[in-house]
Amino acid sequence: MTAPFWAPPPENYAGRLPAKADVVVIGGGIAGTSLLWHLARRRIGAVLLERHHVAWGASGRNAGFLLAGVASSYAEAIATYGREKAREVWEVTNENQDRMIEAARGQDVGHRRLGTAILPASEQERALLVESEQLLLEDGFSARWDGTRLINPRDGEIDPSAMVAALARQAGAGAIREGVDVTSLVAHRRGVTITAGEDVCEAGVVILATNAYTPQLVPAVKIQPTRAQMVATAPESKSITDMPVYSNFGYRYWRQLRSGEVLVGGWRDTSLETEKTLEDRPTAEIQEQLDRAVSELGVKSEVTHRWAGTMGFTESGLPLAGQVDGMPNVYICAGFTGHGMGFAFMTAKQVSESI
Ligand SMILES: Cc1cc2nc3c(=O)[nH]c(=O)nc-3n(C[C@H](O)[C@H](O)[C@H](O)COP(=O)(O)OP(=O)(O)OC[C@H]3O[C@@H](n4cnc5c(N)ncnc54)[C@H](O)[C@@H]3O)c2cc1C
Repeated sequence: MTAPFWAPPPENYAGRLPAKADVVVIGGGIAGTSLLWHLARRRIGAVLLERHHVAWGASGRNAGFLLAGVASSYAEAIATYGREKAREVWEVTNENQDRMIEAARGQDVGHRRLGTAILPASEQERALLVESEQLLLEDGFSARWDGTRLINPRDGEIDPSAMVAALARQAGAGAIREGVDVTSLVAHRRGVTITAGEDVCEAGVVILATNAYTPQLVPAVKIQPTRAQMVATAPESKSITDMPVYSNFGYRYWRQLRSGEVLVGGWRDTSLETEKTLEDRPTAEIQEQLDRAVSELGVKSEVTHRWAGTMGFTESGLPLAGQVDGMPNVYICAGFTGHGMGFAFMTAKQVSESI
């Protein structure tokens, strides 16, 4: 079946574009629903517009890893961003998990904190992970090289769609409006004119939580749509892994749910150019790689779900958070480069505090 493994939120928030609003958030993924949550805490009334349904995008299609940091190892992140910035990124992403789970307020979002294992796929990656263990410990983080893999004991996992649903459920009546496809934005000194089909809204401020789809609305924003593909199997009685595994610089990942299903994703590195796309259908080429990986992991259960989603990559590998250049009253909270479940809640807090 070419549908995500995760069930979409059961609620229906059908609505229309209002004629006026103080703050409008566009996009109903983890970024948009986190923004709504933080804005409500600041008593700022906001309306969220989503063209499909809440968690339709990457937020309802991902692997649900709650990893500290970015796709690269701590050693590489220090080389890229400098030690202070790398430490800050690891701190923020650690905090993201804690604050986001608190925000779910006891609703079942499938959260477990088993840690994650980063498994090297080459000698080069192994050396970087061994070095990362040392650097992480020096900077006060917990990490353990066990001879074959780097264990990050604080990392977690989640049902991403349930997490988005848990945040959406806390929004005020009428605050979420599904089925509203924003077709244009015109920023001016006193606000932003939003168009959705025939409807027009005068908003004070707009926040783009449109991740990979942002360039469709604002072409000047540099976010590269990037497809990622996954499969899920029927419950497997045998234990396949003791914790979620991330390998080959983040290009391969797998986990096993408490109920036994095995989720495997990635292998984008085997077809990098075809995966730079907004097309969110799985391809035979990558799905064959995923089937092989399922079999090599020793999984006997059949594959029940195959799907793809679109991530938004930035040049720096870090999210875009703050005002959009040249567009007064337009802010952005997007570009999570494959790590939005680990970043978006705290990035949304930062953006909500800046408006
Ligand atoms: C297969 C896969 C595996 C992944 N695994 C992980 C993982 O394990 N851990 C992790 O941290 N991250 C993972 N990611 C990345 C993560 O899913 C994203 O970073 C995160 O979901 C981005 O959330 P978002 O809210 O910014 O974007 P999205 O969830 O994509 O939401 C954007 C929303 O905006 C809406 N929208 C766009 N344009 C408009 C418009 N004009 N009008 C109205 N609505 C609009 C879309 O319909 C969409 O619902 C993975 C991604 C994929 C695809």
